[in-house]
Amino acid sequence: MIDLPSQASVVVIGGGVMGCSTLYHLAKLGISDAILLERNKLTSGTTWHSAAQVRALRSTRNMTDLIRYSVSLYSSLEEETGQAVGWINKGSLSIATSQDRLIHTRRQEALAHLFGVDAHFVSQGEAKERWPLMNAEDVIGAVWSPDDGRVSPSDLCAALAKGAKARGAKIFEDTTVTGIVTQDGRVKAVETAGGTIRCDAVAICTGLWSRQVAAMGGVDVPLYPCEHFYLLTDKIDGIEGNLPTLSDHDSHLYIRDDSGGLLVGCFEPMGKPIAPEVLGESFAFGLLDEDWDHFEPMMLNALHRLPSLENAGVRMLLNGPESFTPDGSFLLGETAETRGLFLGCGMNSVGVATGGGAGMALAHCIHNGHPPFDLHEVDPTRFPGCWNNAEALAARAPEVLGKHYEITYPGRGFTSARDLRKTPLDSEWREAGAHFTQVAGWERPLYFGKTEEPELTFGKPAWFDQVAAETRHAAEVAGIFDQSTFGKIEVSGSDATTFLNQVMTNNMNRAVGRAIYTTMLNERGGIESDLTALRLATDHYRLMVGTAAIRRDLAWLKRHSDGFDVTLTNRTEELAIIGLMGPRSRNILQDLGGEKILNLSYFGSTSSNIAGIDVDAVRLSYVGEYGWEITCTVADAPHLYAAFHQAGVRPCGTLAQTAMRIEKRFLSYGHDMDTDTSPLQMGLGFAIDWDTDFIGKSALEERQAAGESNQIVTLLFDADDQIVPLGNEPVYLGTEIAGKTTSAAYGYRIGRPLALADVKLPEARTDGAVVSVDIGGIRYPAVVSTTPAFDPKGARMRG
Ligand SMILES: Cc1cc2nc3c(=O)[nH]c(=O)nc-3n(C[C@H](O)[C@H](O)[C@H](O)COP(=O)(O)OP(=O)(O)OC[C@H]3O[C@@H](n4cnc5c(N)ncnc54)[C@H](O)[C@@H]3O)c2cc1C
Repeated sequence: MIDLPSQASVVVIGGGVMGCSTLYHLAKLGISDAILLERNKLTSGTTWHSAAQVRALRSTRNMTDLIRYSVSLYSSLEEETGQAVGWINKGSLSIATSQDRLIHTRRQEALAHLFGVDAHFVSQGEAKERWPLMNAEDVIGAVWSPDDGRVSPSDLCAALAKGAKARGAKIFEDTTVTGIVTQDGRVKAVETAGGTIRCDAVAICTGLWSRQVAAMGGVDVPLYPCEHFYLLTDKIDGIEGNLPTLSDHDSHLYIRDDSGGLLVGCFEPMGKPIAPEVLGESFAFGLLDEDWDHFEPMMLNALHRLPSLENAGVRMLLNGPESFTPDGSFLLGETAETRGLFLGCGMNSVGVATGGGAGMALAHCIHNGHPPFDLHEVDPTRFPGCWNNAEALAARAPEVLGKHYEITYPGRGFTSARDLRKTPLDSEWREAGAHFTQVAGWERPLYFGKTEEPELTFGKPAWFDQVAAETRHAAEVAGIFDQSTFGKIEVSGSDATTFLNQVMTNNMNRAVGRAIYTTMLNERGGIESDLTALRLATDHYRLMVGTAAIRRDLAWLKRHSDGFDVTLTNRTEELAIIGLMGPRSRNILQDLGGEKILNLSYFGSTSSNIAGIDVDAVRLSYVGEYGWEITCTVADAPHLYAAFHQAGVRPCGTLAQTAMRIEKRFLSYGHDMDTDTSPLQMGLGFAIDWDTDFIGKSALEERQAAGESNQIVTLLFDADDQIVPLGNEPVYLGTEIAGKTTSAAYGYRIGRPLALADVKLPEARTDGAVVSVDIGGIRYPAVVSTTPAFDPKGARMRG
């Protein structure tokens, strides 16, 4: 019987790359009594058979930085531990064989410049020189990334384990965790056949088994396994030594040398889900059956790209399981439900590349209570409860696998596992010809009047005219914007104001009936959330938070409410919010008996009755037109909509809303701001009351003293609808990178494309400065404006 300790500060469950890296980094942080429990042997889950390529360039800086951290760790671990990790730095080559892929590739190159990654565009000829065995006749360009490489996954884990043990950490193999004990919302212990281990924190790094393991602690983990294939050949003439990794995304393939032969892996358009029972406890160093019928289309693609495969002997078609999440990003951080219960799983086929950095970040979260830098895109709290549904996960995971190599066109969405959540006006929107997208499980109209699937493009979008018409109607008459998916969290109790003044930057002690825009900060002065609150009574507020932020914000509020007499209630599913916006909205409300509402001042709110329906209305606008956000019960929403519709109001989708908010320079969480940016940088100084004592205030004061100031500007392009900025593009002042675009759209009211940009270079933050933006490899000039592009004084929305 293994002699387990009865106590450890942190228990890491799972001995794959995520568990080993997390343990190593915990030990490095000085948590020398951390332990790892693995039910079989280290790497026996998915890690042992990984193709283990490490390609750094991702679509965001922070995901890229995690992999860059891995690269520097993997190239130095042998020196530190004496254990080789098989790090081979031969670079990677991503080829393009279609015009849209070329644009995608050029966008990647632009991102590389922005993130400081060494990656550059190469011609067909140079691509062929770097990969002589490839048939390059249809290749029209490529991106070459010299810093990329690959590793031996089992050796890597051995080195991480050795490094962790050298610092006091312990690893117990053949030890299955059978239970996670929690009490009062906190993790207390893990259970094994060899006894119970008390602990302060648990890191669930159990790969595709994490859904079952987390359920032991009462937590939902939305991930699902799929089969993942690569072909291994015998030796092939012409393969001497190591080659760069070759990615042929248009053919869904990745290719590299392996023991003198080739390894040809694929992310086929639609993967194969695996029933979890197939992958039971005894699945150690296991593989799944070969499936040549499924692999055949990929084999044909591979034969086209690599003619020498024709005569190569096949060693095996390896089929291994890997887990995927509903949005294709992994899960890293503390769970919303249980303090001390952390996730590091659902790696979506980048577990080895990301493992070094992700383990570092997870250890940092456990040790410091927050990640080393913004990681909201992998925050486990981003998924709503509707994803705790095996059927939906089994439908989505194969599509996620397929999307891994797809071109990331604007407007691209998932087609599987739809209709999980519907807004109260869903039938009305279907009747009105909505084209939907899915956000946090909700079906939300993107635009109206064209239901067929649009042809996706990086150029002028297929929905341009529909969105133009919606925007025009809202600006000339009135539009309805369905904001029902916003979270509605009510805070009540005798300490409601004191509590909120501690967690919010603005002064919440306003007259009953006032609306308050505010940010909620972390101790570092970064924005955890931005929201609008309504003071409904002296001891009662309603917070309207972002659609994807509900679980996270609720957890944050709960965690900071100890000792206050407050009750937090999530009313998201009970209430609908309808935005009525446009110059005629006043007359429309008047005709429907909403006089009380008409007298509201800007940011004033009241309860009233419109067309016989009880509502709470607040005078504000996210789109810059005169209007109200009107809250009613879900049951009443269709009646309210019918009354507005009859009065000539037209529905507007989220694309119209986005275009209008960008024209008004209204920011959006996750695009323009995140947990690293402060309200000072975002120009949100008006939402800070320095006289209150809020979380993050001292950090904010320091940031202010260090000169942090508004970095967000508007960039105005020429009046040409063929210029299509998307956000996340580098902004140049001359040849120097000055910042990046954060949100972009065509501004229908101003008649030109525009972007919001986070600009670090002060010279590029002055009105009238001319910068250029790299959109798909072409630099487009843009003029800087420090004020909103549309109605800068807000005359229209204030009335
Ligand atoms: C064919 C294939 C090719 C791939 N190629 C690449 C690539 O080129 N680059 C890349 O970055 N990624 C690649 N991946 C993905 C990568 O291998 C995975 O993301 C990664 O290995 C996942 O590591 P993990 O630690 O999360 O999970 P795992 O390696 O599966 O580790 C989880 C561990 O938890 C243990 N466990 C489960 N339940 C319990 C319990 N109750 N108690 C104790 N222990 C438990 C399991 O035994 C297992 O060892 C590939 C995957 C496949 C299948």
